[in-house]
Amino acid sequence: MNKAHSFRLKGTLLLGVLLIVCAAFEAFAENWEEIKGDHFIVYYTRSRTFGKEALRKAEEYYDKIANDLGYARRDKFWNWDDRVKIYIYPSEKAYLDYVKSMGYAEWSVGFADYCKKEIVSYHHGKGFLDAILPHELTHLLFRDYVGTKNIPMWIDEGVAQWQEKGRLKEVNKELRREFKNHSPIPMERMMSLNIAVITNEFIVDLYYLQAVSMVDFMITRYGSEKFVYFCRQLRDGKRIDNALKFTYPTMIRTTEDLEREWLEYLQVD
Ligand SMILES: [Zn+2]
Repeated sequence: MNKAHSFRLKGTLLLGVLLIVCAAFEAFAENWEEIKGDHFIVYYTRSRTFGKEALRKAEEYYDKIANDLGYARRDKFWNWDDRVKIYIYPSEKAYLDYVKSMGYAEWSVGFADYCKKEIVSYHHGKGFLDAILPHELTHLLFRDYVGTKNIPMWIDEGVAQWQEKGRLKEVNKELRREFKNHSPIPMERMMSLNIAVITNEFIVDLYYLQAVSMVDFMITRYGSEKFVYFCRQLRDGKRIDNALKFTYPTMIRTTEDLEREWLEYLQVD
């Protein structure tokens, strides 16, 4: 999913992104028009120009994100009948009516459905093109790459935010500020929280910040290859401590190590 983070940095309302789901619902009937590309079909009702721009950006992100994730066989997937569908609702209200009908909390601005290979959001300019689109696209690519089982949601949300333009720059600063007054959400809670149904926006914001910061720590410190390898250990059924020990044998052997090393990286005392 894509979360509209409620905190403000330098006077700008940051768009985070929320949710990856597997929903049993069809998109509400609108008078959808469509534009087809190599790997995507964009559905829109409001502006063909915006729909075209969304398609152009999606194809561009597709290459970049697959590359960043080390996903080498990308030329063979999401073609023809397997194309990802991108639904752009005409307004926030129309989008939220759909989200509400599925029983999700109402703080999202977009979501990715990995069962139906769909991205769903609404018409709102740069926020959609620069943040929501790469975020939701990363969810789908990441799931394609590491599978749909056993990946804790914070890793999903961390990886997805990691691809949003400009998101990382302020995250660690924001966390250092938050941790002067609040403790971090403990690892155990990060592991079990289903953020899609949490309505406390402070917790949601902190969760998203911690998620991207921890993923950034793991990738910056030890590389994306190791990180994907770690995710694949989870996919194959290893518990998180075992997956850490297996991937980072001399560096991070437990979730406590991960939390401690990450906080040191953040330079929180
Ligand atoms: Zn997300």
